[in-house]
Amino acid sequence: MIDAHCHLEQPDYDEERDVVIKRCKKQLQAVITSCANPKDFDLTIQLVKKYKNFIFATASVHPQYVKNFSEDEIKEYLEKIKLHKDNLVAIGETGLDYNWVKETMWREKQKKLFNRFITLTKNLQLPLVIHSRDATKEVLEILENHAVKRVQMHMFTAPSLLNRVIDNGWHISVNNLLLRSKTVKKIVRDCPLGRLMLETDAPWLGIGKDGNIKSKHEVRNEPIAVRLVRDKIAEIKKIFVEKVDKQTTENAIKFYKLNI
Ligand SMILES: [Zn+2]
Repeated sequence: MIDAHCHLEQPDYDEERDVVIKRCKKQLQAVITSCANPKDFDLTIQLVKKYKNFIFATASVHPQYVKNFSEDEIKEYLEKIKLHKDNLVAIGETGLDYNWVKETMWREKQKKLFNRFITLTKNLQLPLVIHSRDATKEVLEILENHAVKRVQMHMFTAPSLLNRVIDNGWHISVNNLLLRSKTVKKIVRDCPLGRLMLETDAPWLGIGKDGNIKSKHEVRNEPIAVRLVRDKIAEIKKIFVEKVDKQTTENAIKFYKLNI
């Protein structure tokens, strides 16, 4: 199994990051950690170097943080990403989040930022990881206009747009939302296994004892929890767990061109 999207740089792991990664090494073939904030970039690159061929990284600015950085800071970060491109396997998560950002001015800023990361993806010839909330139609239009080929839709919750995602040749990574959401179940049922990847978004989206998704302060999620998602996909698609395991791992290796 591969966790195709998590955040190992989060402070929630500061006390025992190496212990958490050791657990991952016992159960997973690789972990893709996503740097969503420029301030976490150095730590992310350190992890990639320390756990070579096991931890791989993507980098961008999460659309939710659009208000936090000046033009100069963004420029500097883009240069840093270019400089470290050999330590990255994708650009992301980037996209639009209209749930967190309501004001027109900031939404326009989000779009501008999204476009810059798309351009970067093309220049560096890396795949793109998408975060989209309450704006999926617009996100799809932008990606299609730019003819972006290698796309991972993270937290995809729009069944009516699934066929477009499939027709475009893109992938969907599924996390614990699958355990609670009828919408995500429907997406998994209708999406070919060849287009699915497992993810956790850890430390977020941990499952509590009552079976519900908790805040990261109540339950700190870990990449090894992809097992829950794998099992649920097998149940929904009525296929063996081993088949889900093998195919989603292959999908992630191919999508990210992982050297493992
Ligand atoms: Zn994320």
